[in-house]
Amino acid sequence: MNIGRFHRQRRRIEQRFPAGSKRRQAMAHLVREARAAMVVVSGHAVGWRLPGGAMSCTKRRYPNATAAYSDLDRIASTSAAGRVPVRAYPCEFCGGWHTTAQGRKRVFIHSKDVSMRNHGP
Ligand SMILES: [Zn+2]
Repeated sequence: MNIGRFHRQRRRIEQRFPAGSKRRQAMAHLVREARAAMVVVSGHAVGWRLPGGAMSCTKRRYPNATAAYSDLDRIASTSAAGRVPVRAYPCEFCGGWHTTAQGRKRVFIHSKDVSMRNHGP
């Protein structure tokens, strides 16, 4: 099974069974049929990897940053209070983009590096 077919089957299952044991059964069947392996990072299921190496993430996949941010804006403007996505990021697994409600991780710059850049020879 190729990744496109896996994506389509997944979408069909998710539309047909909003949640619950029926969805879990259907997903288990699909995963068996595709011989996919669940990928878990830091205790979270990120998606399924097919034998060929292609990845199907649990999160909605956008083809590029523009698509991800335009959907993020749409969600932010239509959602009431609650957890809404605040940024988009490129995915290292599927090569697409996802949105997240988590803020950007802090990036620390050593003061030594900054002074070298500012006052170097
Ligand atoms: Zn992904």
